[in-house]
Amino acid sequence: MALSKCNRLSGTLIKELLDSIDSVLFDCDGVIWRGDEAIPGAPQVINLLKKNGKRVFFVTNNSTKTRKMYADKLAKLGFNATEDEVFGTAYCSAVYLKTVSKVKGKVYLIGSNAMKQELESVGIDQVGVGPDPITGTQIDWVNVALDPDVRAVVVGFDEHFSYMKLNRALQYLTNPECILVGTNTDTRLPLEGGKAVPGTGCLLKAVETAAQRKAQVVGKPSRFMFECVASQYGLDPARTMMVGDRLDTDILLGTNCGLKTLLTLTGVSTVADATEHLQSGCPERLGMVPDYYVETIAELLPALQG
Ligand code: PLP
Ligand code: CA
Repeated sequence: MALSKCNRLSGTLIKELLDSIDSVLFDCDGVIWRGDEAIPGAPQVINLLKKNGKRVFFVTNNSTKTRKMYADKLAKLGFNATEDEVFGTAYCSAVYLKTVSKVKGKVYLIGSNAMKQELESVGIDQVGVGPDPITGTQIDWVNVALDPDVRAVVVGFDEHFSYMKLNRALQYLTNPECILVGTNTDTRLPLEGGKAVPGTGCLLKAVETAAQRKAQVVGKPSRFMFECVASQYGLDPARTMMVGDRLDTDILLGTNCGLKTLLTLTGVSTVADATEHLQSGCPERLGMVPDYYVETIAELLPALQG
């Protein structure tokens, strides 16, 4: 097994690596699919890993879908996967609020309908989903009606984000007992052709700036995403691999949790980005250097078929 970092994975090294692990955590966008299309060969890789006795999990920062919605998407794209193998930030945030924050009241939710459903499935009520009911200019912003049972503000991806939602979040957060939780900090969502749209990190920064507070973040690179999987399935970090396309979320999560890390080049980060971190001499940046990289996870296929 190679001792250095950022090794091109090929040939016998692939078999050696696969023999050294029992479980694989796959990031989704940029790794197993891009938007609504599977990465060519990815469904076969996942299905063969399982056939070869590996446990496979899907770990995504995207908070816009429930576990069930992800399981349906995976099935449609040809992946052999079940709901309980999916760890998205809508589900993981609900688990976090229930088991770590132990929130006793309602949530003021800046987020999607999927987040509402995941919160409800662990018995947490929310207010706030959908467009804010108050619009117009003649508004007493500070004295806007608030729900007295709200004990947490939760920020995920919200296409209805507005100044009024930001204001409500601030009004709730002036109570020091009201906690602030964010699904993830991804600032940009890359699209095909070098285009991008604002990610949840932009909304979370706005709330943090208004409230002058730092949020507790659930998504990658927070260790909670791994602990959520590990606590349910008893994973051994030393025999687990994280596969991702982003150095600052996926690879850093893997390093932080003592996992083997594999960068795939079908998404956001490049080998040049990783090399820059490696050569910076900065100890904090070393966590963003993967153990291995591949052009695409389809490169694992021959070793799994043989
Ligand atoms: N958040 C949103 C709203 C997204 O649409 C995406 C990707 O599509 C992500 C986060 C990043 O997801 P992943 O962690 O699967 O790369
Ligand atoms: Ca990704």
